[in-house]
This record gives sequence, structure tokens and C-alpha cells, in this order.
Amino acid sequence: MKYIVFDMEWNQTYGHERPLSFGRTLSGEIIEIGAVRLDDEFRVEDHFKIYVRPTFYKKLHSAVKRLTGIDRATLEDAPSFPEALKAFRAFCTDDFVTLTWGDSDVPILRENIDAHSLPAWTAKNYNLQSIYMRQIGSKNCISLESAAGQLGIDHEDVHFHDASCDADVTALIAGVIDTAKGISEYQTPIGELSDDDILSFEKIGGVVNLQKLRSDPRIRFTLCPECRRPLEAKRIIPHSSGKKLACLECPDHGKYLLRLRTHHVKEETFNVTKSLFPWTEDVERIWLDRLAVADRKKEKFLSRVRAKKNKKKENAEK
Ligand SMILES: [Zn+2]
Repeated sequence: MKYIVFDMEWNQTYGHERPLSFGRTLSGEIIEIGAVRLDDEFRVEDHFKIYVRPTFYKKLHSAVKRLTGIDRATLEDAPSFPEALKAFRAFCTDDFVTLTWGDSDVPILRENIDAHSLPAWTAKNYNLQSIYMRQIGSKNCISLESAAGQLGIDHEDVHFHDASCDADVTALIAGVIDTAKGISEYQTPIGELSDDDILSFEKIGGVVNLQKLRSDPRIRFTLCPECRRPLEAKRIIPHSSGKKLACLECPDHGKYLLRLRTHHVKEETFNVTKSLFPWTEDVERIWLDRLAVADRKKEKFLSRVRAKKNKKKENAEK
């Protein structure tokens, strides 16, 4: 079996492009795929890099251009997504699992495959970032660049946020840490959500007030993945460190679980990633469990407020 380490860059919409068919939009359109194929002992076999000509969001977003260094001319002559995917699939061989740094690449790949009406194709994926975090006992997300630095991997000349460079560095990390052990221990702990199940994914920047997330309409509303109707998060409750949950309901397509992950950027600014999960029995159990905890906390808080009020009243009556 081969290990395919992959990374992608994607373009964002400026918001004025025509939506995909049936009023759907894409969270990001893939413009570069970088990958490294490793043998069963995590030794490098081959490298892969391809630019992808965008079909839906043709105007390259200035932020994406700045971050990735990819320009319009590079993409103009690049193959279309179906052609690029075909080449990538050939590179992967037919017996493989994938490794990524973080959990955003797989859902974006799935969305792009779906947008082009291609048959579903993704393999079992392992998030090397979470394997690394577990092995060094860190609860905080560690960027690829920081991990490379911590592991003494030479990264002076690496251009981070270039898909093939990021894939190269991720592959080096896979060769340095105990990836085999990480994979054998890899499981979704009970009470955790599996990133394999994510239906849609969205990154929101410049969020300021973490206490009042619902006041930001980008967080309060999420589109139903089936009919694109905006669904409201009526209540947001804590999940685990840096994560929150909300239950969304579409009158036609039923319930979904929304997970919000907050990342501190600088000073008072945060990025929030929204991931949408299908409503399964396991998901319902997680939701009811967290809801019970949140309700107990709320009740405790309210009874403290009531007690204070009563005391004030008593004092006033005296
Ligand atoms: Zn719906």
C-alpha cells in the first residue's frame, strides 16, 4: 500500500460569480494539487504537482494570489479539473491511503469533484497534523512551518502555501515522526466528530467577539448542502477546547450538526472554521450530551443570578 501525502491550493469567490447549477456555490475552487507518494515505510517514491485552470471562479482572488504566489498566466494554460484529477488519480495508484496536514483538503476535494459532476473519489485519510499533535502532547493546532522547525527539518528555502512545497514538507514530517504508530492508533475517540464525514466546510476571517458569535450572520447562517437554504444556528454551545456546536434544521432535508472551530489570529481577531456534519445516531448522542452539560451550566448560572436578586430584594426590604 502507498501513502499519498497531498496538499492543495484553492481560489475563493469574490461573491459575484454566477452560482453553480441548482444555486450551489463552492467553498473553494482547486487551482493546484501537490503530492508525494511514499512507500509502505514512508520513503519518498515520487512527486506530483499540477496547476488547475479554474472553471467557476475564474478571477484569482487577490488574497489567494498573495498567499500562494500563483498568477493568472500560470492557470490559463493549465489543465481543467477533470484532467488534473485524472492525472492525480494515476499518480496515486489503486492501493493507497492519504495523509494531509489539517482537515480542510479532503472536504474541498470532495466538493470540487461534486461540482464537476464526477464520480465520488477519495481514500481513507489521516490527518498528520493531529497525529503529530497527539505524539508531542499538544492541544493547540501546529502549523506546518512550526512543525518543520520543531523537528529540525530544513525549511529555509521552502515556499509555504505552495501545494507541492507543503506536500514535500508534510512527507518529510511523515518520515521523521512515528507515522505508522499514529495510523495504528488513529481512531475517532468516542464523543469526537470524524472529519471524514464533513459535508461542507467554510473559513471565516476577522471574527472579533467570540462571546457573541451569533451576532455575525456569516456564523449564524449556513446553507443547507442539499437546497442551499440558509439554516439558522439558534443556539451555539461549547464542545471542547476551541470548538462549539450548533444544531441546524432544514424543513426539507432534516438536521445537521455545525461545528465551529476558533483560531486566534492576532489581538482581538479570530478565524472561525465551520464544518457541517450529517445528523447520525452518534452525532445526536454527542449533541445531546453537550446540550445537557450546557443546560446544567445555564441553570447554575441562572440560579446564581436569582439568588443574588433575592438577596438584594431582602436587603432592600430590611
Ligand atoms: Zn435543505
